[in-house]
Amino acid sequence: MSFSAYGEPVKKTAKSGRLSLSFEPYELKLRHSFNLAKSSRTTTPDVLVRLDYDGFTGYGEASMPPYLGESVKSVTEFLSSLDLGQFSDPFRIEDIHEYMDSVAADNRAAKASVDIALHDLLGKIMGQPWYKIWGLDPGKAPCTSFTIGIDTAEVVRKKVDEAEPYKVLKVKMGLDNDKELVDIIRSKTDRPICVDANQGWDDRERALEMCHWLAERNCLFVEQPLPKERIDDTAWLRERSPLPIVADEFLQRLPDVRRAAQAYDAINIKLMKSTGLHEAYKMAVLARGLGMKVMLGCMTETSCAISAASQLAPLADWADLDGNLLISNDIFDGMKIVDGRVSIPDRPGIGAIPVG
Ligand code: MG
Repeated sequence: MSFSAYGEPVKKTAKSGRLSLSFEPYELKLRHSFNLAKSSRTTTPDVLVRLDYDGFTGYGEASMPPYLGESVKSVTEFLSSLDLGQFSDPFRIEDIHEYMDSVAADNRAAKASVDIALHDLLGKIMGQPWYKIWGLDPGKAPCTSFTIGIDTAEVVRKKVDEAEPYKVLKVKMGLDNDKELVDIIRSKTDRPICVDANQGWDDRERALEMCHWLAERNCLFVEQPLPKERIDDTAWLRERSPLPIVADEFLQRLPDVRRAAQAYDAINIKLMKSTGLHEAYKMAVLARGLGMKVMLGCMTETSCAISAASQLAPLADWADLDGNLLISNDIFDGMKIVDGRVSIPDRPGIGAIPVG
């Protein structure tokens, strides 16, 4: 196997007609340093994964922003501990997930990498992209936002220029100069914004004041305004806010969706949190059944995981699938943004092909 010129990955042994897993660390380089309310960085560790079965190949990846608690070491140790060769039928997705959950409780990005590669493999065996297998209309995929991180006025202006093709700007907040940041953006464009406070507003009255202020400035919604533990305060805010309140850090997997419904209007589903597409699909369906809105997000990732997520885009009200645009060393070709909208690749599987 070769993803790139980065050398041969670790090979796992497998019998013929059995799933064979291989993987390789790959460091993602960010175009701009990524500044959040509580951290800053210029690279993101990643592990590329490949699953082979009867001449078919599926690709996946694990992206590990440090705040999620996973690392190249924890992901490669988890992947090394798996014996996927025990599954002679790769269509046993549910069994494979149950097995992975029995091996370790957490390691969600590592599990997502296997899940994405498995979906890619199965889609290729069936000769169909996953949006078709799920019966979804690709024309219903929403526009994606483009993220403007916390930065100096000069860099923010430059990023707004770079974001010209995108219909919605996502603004990272949670510092003292939040209003200044929006004023700079509004001096350049009147396109709608959405706001992600990343738990950075620790006072509910301040959060409510910000929601009113933002509602007057063409803002669509506010993501994770308060710390995730502050469920009662978030419910208080939701009752009064003119803008929808979206859960991100608050929730990870399927059992969290019902809890989120108590305090949030919407959930942000990300494959690296949900352990991949299998559970992400169930989360989207459950959230809609509970009357919530669905946002589809991502980490900094290559076009591999982004294309996988794009398969679910017709189930989402809002998409934030710009992780591949934020890196300078993408080694997959896949999901494209056409006229600001998510355009799902018309290829079997997850729709991504390695170009490295
Ligand atoms: Mg967020």
